[in-house]
Amino acid sequence: MCKVAIVKCDTYEVQDVKNAILKGINLIEFELDRKDCVLVKPNLLMKKRPEDAVTTHPAVVQATVEVIKEKANRIIIADSPGGPYTKKRLESIYQAAGIKELEKLENVYLNYDTSYEDLDVENTAFKKLSLISPYFKSQGIVNLPKLKTHQMAVYTGAVKNLFGLVPGGQKAEMHFRFQDVRRFMEMLLEILTVAKPVLNIMDGIVAMEGEGPSAGKPKKLGILLISEDAIALDYVACKIIGLDIKDVPLLEVAKEKGFLKPEEIEVVGERIEDVAPSSFELVLRPEISFVKGRLPHFLASFLDGFLSPKPVFDKNICIGCAECFNTCPAQAIEMKSRKAYVDLKKCIRCYCCHELCPAKAIKIKRSFLFEKILK
Ligand code: SF4
Ligand code: SF4
Repeated sequence: MCKVAIVKCDTYEVQDVKNAILKGINLIEFELDRKDCVLVKPNLLMKKRPEDAVTTHPAVVQATVEVIKEKANRIIIADSPGGPYTKKRLESIYQAAGIKELEKLENVYLNYDTSYEDLDVENTAFKKLSLISPYFKSQGIVNLPKLKTHQMAVYTGAVKNLFGLVPGGQKAEMHFRFQDVRRFMEMLLEILTVAKPVLNIMDGIVAMEGEGPSAGKPKKLGILLISEDAIALDYVACKIIGLDIKDVPLLEVAKEKGFLKPEEIEVVGERIEDVAPSSFELVLRPEISFVKGRLPHFLASFLDGFLSPKPVFDKNICIGCAECFNTCPAQAIEMKSRKAYVDLKKCIRCYCCHELCPAKAIKIKRSFLFEKILK
């Protein structure tokens, strides 16, 4: 059996979070082997304040560091956020996310090294995988995802958080290479098999609902989820917010490929039904997988292209920062007079622009027919 602990934690007081983590670790009977270096991997998607609920809360990062520091000579806190992977960008994100102070702790280092290395990985779609340098310096990853909705993936959690081990622009390349949502999920599972986090601690104290992963609304759930198994943890998190395997492309693919076995998951601590919110604003699946395989290929492709949700740019809100322009893997965005414009014929519907727009100037619009079919 694989254990997933659900532990209540109502505040972001570091001591409360630490107590909750220790309780969860006891419940799953986890013990960290002594390591020279541990990589702590929060979700630091973009420059946002802790109260925006976009990034893993600094109290969760600090409490984790304090819990594991006895077992590690060094702890490196690292992530490759969205957009260009530069020292300047990392500095401003650490500052905004409230984790800059953590580098004052003994043997704790924030990563500023933007180099990366290639790893040969057999039996995967990518053969060579570029990963940020701290991965190669550490002997174990403690993964700290944030529970959020996601326009492309429906939900983002433990498995998706590991995509942040891939450096900056290479993430955009992978979006371009694995345009089909299911292929993208297969790729994420392949990264999981390489990264193999030793422990996953999900920040669900305040989650994000609605237009996640960055433009949604904070939603207090008051829980931490803790497990050695990232997929089992994601499965339980999805159940809590009202998503089933069929609703979440990652879980669907993970089950088909034998990564996810719900019958072998034991939930310990709180019960799912006792922590599930009475409402949680979800995102509908972006791809119409039910059309594929039921219709002739040309018709399915036409309908998929026609019905897929589109990014719509509001030029009255756009502040001309060019984040979307610099990030778009398909080079489908043009800047004219400090405003962003999209060429939908080139757009691959990855929604990276929506994810990284600091002004919330991009909406993901679904056609009326699409919504009707899905509902
Ligand atoms: S749409 Fe958003 S990300 Fe793109 S330029 Fe405008 S404000 Fe920046
Ligand atoms: S316009 Fe947005 S959704 Fe389309 S490919 Fe570019 S980043 Fe992705």
